[in-house]
Order: sequence, then C-alpha cells, then structure tokens
Amino acid sequence: MSAVALLKNQMQRWSRRDAQGRSFGPDISHQTILYLEDITVSFDGFKALNALTLYINVGELRCIIGPNGAGKTTMMDVITGKTRPDSGSAWFGQTINLLEMNEPEIAQAGIGRKFQKPTVFEQHSVFENLELAMSGRKSVWPNLHARLSAQQRENIDRVLETIGLQGHRQRRAGALSHGQKQWLEIGMLLMQDPQLLLVDEPVAGMTPQETERTAELLTSLAGERSVVVVEHDMVFVRSIAKTVTVLHEGSVLAEGSMDEVQNNPKVKEVYLGE
Ligand code: ADP
Ligand code: MG
Repeated sequence: MSAVALLKNQMQRWSRRDAQGRSFGPDISHQTILYLEDITVSFDGFKALNALTLYINVGELRCIIGPNGAGKTTMMDVITGKTRPDSGSAWFGQTINLLEMNEPEIAQAGIGRKFQKPTVFEQHSVFENLELAMSGRKSVWPNLHARLSAQQRENIDRVLETIGLQGHRQRRAGALSHGQKQWLEIGMLLMQDPQLLLVDEPVAGMTPQETERTAELLTSLAGERSVVVVEHDMVFVRSIAKTVTVLHEGSVLAEGSMDEVQNNPKVKEVYLGE
C-alpha cells in the first residue's frame, strides 16, 4: 500500500463515521476501552453476575477463565446487548453507554463477537464470505462482486493475509477445515473493523497446529484493537496470556499474570472443587 493510502486508511480507522459523517467510535483517550462496573444479572433470583467490575485497556489481549457457570458467557451477553443487567454500568470508552444501545448498535459502534460455533456461508467462497461481511454491504446480497472499490479489495486482501487464508480465497467455505472456518469467521468480524473483539472458546475442537496458529492470530490482532478471549484450554491461555481474569460465581476472583492466578490459593480451591 502506498504511504498516502496507508494514511487515508488510518484516518478512517481513527474516525469511525456513519453515512452522515457523524463520528461513532469509542473515545479511548483514557486508555480504557471497556468499563464494567457493579454489573448484576439475575435469573429467577440466581445471580449469574454479581456486582462484576472489570476494565479492559486499549490494545490489550485479556483472557477470562473460570469454572462452568462462572458467568463468562453472561458477561459477553451484557457487553453485546443481548442481556440487560439488573444494575450496574457498562461503557465503551468514555462516552458510549452500552446499556442504552441494542445489539446492532453495539456492533456498529465497534464491538465484534465471535461465538463458539462458526457460522460462515458454506456455499460461498472465502473471498465472498469476507465481502458479505463488509459493513454496509449486507443489503446487496445478490450482487456479489458488483462494485468493489480498490479500497474494499485491499481491505479484503489484508484480512485474508491476517487470517492466513490468502491461498484459499476461491475455495468454498464449506470445504475448509474446522480451524480454517474459525479463522474465516474472525476475518468476517475484522471486515467491520471492531475496536473490541470478544472471542468465546476459539480453540475448542482444533488440532494442536490450528491452536498454535490461533494463538498467533489473536496475539497479532491485539495492539491495534483490544481482544477478550474466554477459554478453557489452559495450555492455550498460558501461551497467549498477559493478564488473566478469573471469574467465579459472577464476580472477579483473581486477576494477574498466568503464574499469579495459578498460584492464588482461592483460584486453586475453586478449580480443585470443580
Ligand atoms: P459460563 O459461561 O461461565 O459457563 P454462564 O454465563 O453461561 O457461565 O452462566 C452463569 C450462570 O447463569 C449459570 O449458572 C447458568 O446456568 C445461569 N444462566 C445463564 N443464562 C441463563 C438463563 N437464560 N436463564 C437462567 N439461568 C441462566
Ligand atoms: Mg460459557
């Protein structure tokens, strides 16, 4: 890419704007991209989240672990607007109140979520999947390849390279391996350029080689954006983690480096008791 194109691209990334030119990205001037404070979610009186307070920094790769039922998925549901908490606050940067927005608005503002099961369009090629995922192009579904600008092609190429599927661009997505489908789906999220990416159990069902490649991919995505990974595979978490947060019974039990949390007596007790 030329220096001018690179600059233009950067400018667009910095100023997320809607069709009217209004800016809608998060204000990250305080270096914190996500604020969850005192979040409580009850299901029939049972507290799936119990005064959960958690902060995610700009550009960090955070791993969230915790036994089954700890509230990890519920936490992601709150961030993405799928579940409304009973109380607490959730902010995306300084100015975006997530609790006043619905799911599409939150996605539009720059929070992408990868569910466990890949949901790629199996009948379409890898390239077409990325094309369909491009923001604003959902309405032109039947018009694949209609009018891709040079910039849009460049974006797709860049994402293909990031997810390591350059050599598979014309392959039908349904013919990819499980791991490749997961990477394609991460690529589809990247087409919308999220500032915060939430990933639920990315390496479940992957081969050791695919797991290793996924660790590299997620590590490479952090920095430019913030990535929150929920994962059970401890070997994987150890391989990517800088800061690990342990959830238990809907709140934070411990936070720190992998070594710190693994040596934490409270954490040991919770995992032994599982
Ligand atoms: P994790 O992802 O850490 O395994 P979850 O967030 O899925 O935990 O669940 C936390 C707790 O909340 C669990 O005890 C679960 O049974 C309960 N729970 C989650 N969703 C619902 C729901 N829609 N209705 C009732 N209980 C729920
Ligand atoms: Mg879960």
